[in-house]
Amino acid sequence: MKITNVEVLVLKSPGLYSRPEASEEPPGPTYMGLVRVSTDAGITGYSDMETAPSVAKAAVEAPPWSEPGMECFDGLASLIIGENPLEPERLWYKMYRGSIYYGRRGVAIQAISAIDIALWDIMGKLYGQPVCILLGARWCERVRAYASTLFRPTPEAMAHAARRYIDRGFTAIKFGWGVFGEDPKRDIELVAAARSALGNGPDLLIDTGWFVERTPKQAIGIVKSLEPYRPFLIEEILHPEDYDGYRQVADSVSIPIACGEQEATEWGFHELIARARVDILQPDLTRCGGFTVARKIVHMAERANVLVIPHSWSSDLLTAASLHLNAFQRRAVLVEFNTSQGPLSRELVKDPLRLENGCLRVPDGPGLGVEVNESVIAKYRIA
Ligand code: MG
Repeated sequence: MKITNVEVLVLKSPGLYSRPEASEEPPGPTYMGLVRVSTDAGITGYSDMETAPSVAKAAVEAPPWSEPGMECFDGLASLIIGENPLEPERLWYKMYRGSIYYGRRGVAIQAISAIDIALWDIMGKLYGQPVCILLGARWCERVRAYASTLFRPTPEAMAHAARRYIDRGFTAIKFGWGVFGEDPKRDIELVAAARSALGNGPDLLIDTGWFVERTPKQAIGIVKSLEPYRPFLIEEILHPEDYDGYRQVADSVSIPIACGEQEATEWGFHELIARARVDILQPDLTRCGGFTVARKIVHMAERANVLVIPHSWSSDLLTAASLHLNAFQRRAVLVEFNTSQGPLSRELVKDPLRLENGCLRVPDGPGLGVEVNESVIAKYRIA
């Protein structure tokens, strides 16, 4: 079996979304890069990726520029076309090594991530097994989902949103950045309003976002000010490169500190575990290096006794992939479920993921276990 083609399809949601009312549900992604890997066996693998799609397209489709035997700045497709898709570990390193001058992080790793996920999808389809089984474990059939949304600008809108997600069956809700950080007094009022609307039962996750730059001591002050509202976790309170700052915060507060959606590779996650000492890792499969890296992250996390809650915001395709990574963990905690109804989030697969008693079922079909809707690709494809 050989890889015959690797493509990046760029999709655009109809109409450029703006949020007319900040109190409303965010609209989901406007642009999406979709990787499609084809084989001579007629099996095709897919993954979306959260990156700048046109840049990723260039990285994938660029010709081989290096001298033979000195591959270090080649197009990613050129490195794996003709190769056996059933060797994702070797092909991951071949792409990493072959893009090392322009890669190592950022768009190159994001494109490698999506290609890697597509290879695991192909393997699953060939063997008739879901990806989690190929990874080696299906510890659970369902994972509790958290509603993933943005902060609303007023306490009333926060309470309204919180109640709406509870009505939909969620038992955990994450509010992210948005207006958070503009006014410390209002930040507390917003979190208090959400907690008050939720009552004692449901979990409240807070993504403070790192775009507001904070020192570790400021971050510690914010976390302590939110303690009365019992957040399940506080996400990305510092710049993603501030490993030593994270350590200072994590060592000083009792609320679990989470980060990792910007992190990539096994080496990066080793820094988060050993140096930053965060409590919860949030690898995004389409940014960290795909399943080939994520399973190493799970191994490292289990050894260090820290939790992994994959970041997965873009689409049902990524959420399905994240469910397989959750099922591979001895101790799955939560799966992120983007609550936006944007077409690229909700229409990309034929049978969209559905909440059942606050949980998502781990797909049991072959590969990722969700089928990409080709007619939706045709409808939204712009490149
Ligand atoms: Mg986040």
